[in-house]
Amino acid sequence: MLINETAYKKIQKYLDEKDVRLVAVSKTKPNEAVMDLYNLGHRVFGENRVQELTAKYEDLPKDIEWHLIGHLQTNKVKYIAPFVYCIESVDSLKLLKEINKQAEKNDRIIKVLLQFKIAAEDTKYGLEDSTVKALLESAEFKEMKNIEVAGVMGMATFTENKEQVRQEFQNLGRIFQHLKELYFKNDESFKEISMGMSGDYEIAVEEGSTMVRVGSLIFGARN
Ligand SMILES: *Cc1c(COP(=O)(O)O)cnc(C)c1O
Repeated sequence: MLINETAYKKIQKYLDEKDVRLVAVSKTKPNEAVMDLYNLGHRVFGENRVQELTAKYEDLPKDIEWHLIGHLQTNKVKYIAPFVYCIESVDSLKLLKEINKQAEKNDRIIKVLLQFKIAAEDTKYGLEDSTVKALLESAEFKEMKNIEVAGVMGMATFTENKEQVRQEFQNLGRIFQHLKELYFKNDESFKEISMGMSGDYEIAVEEGSTMVRVGSLIFGARN
């Protein structure tokens, strides 16, 4: 086994009790490791690079639900549009337009999450309050037929300070509620708060996460 089965079962049990879904983050890990988890019944996996995602998609069973969780360049959307289940890292109108266009070409509806900058760290990617407002109020957004905005995603600061992490997750929860109220009130698809990783998923769940993205606890540390 290339995975920590005990850790997986413990996490899955905890999440099941709270009705939270697990995206198993398999980035940098071999197909055999994905298959170990697949053979335990898991079907939802996350990758952060387009090339690795497409390679894994081609080699692995087709009933896997693939989530892209890393930064996505507009010119690479076409490679994943035929099969990706959810793009969790939407951080611009330009990217969303391209996803909609490629989804239409493939006659599909692609689920997306809006990624927010919630960490104190100087992360490059993610929307801020002002940019998301412009995005959601634009005429172009309103015309998009091939995307489904399913919620929000964010990453907390990498720190030992649990109180800070908790506050950042609370902030994402507030952003979600605010957007729900303003733009998605009658839209049942807008329901996901993707937050929590190996080091902080329990805090994230306590703060209302509906979907956690856990890699190293299940697959082991990455180089
Ligand atoms: C790598 C990654 C994860 C998983 O991180 P772990 O600490 O290994 O659980 C979650 N989310 C994103 C966006 C990532 O890039």
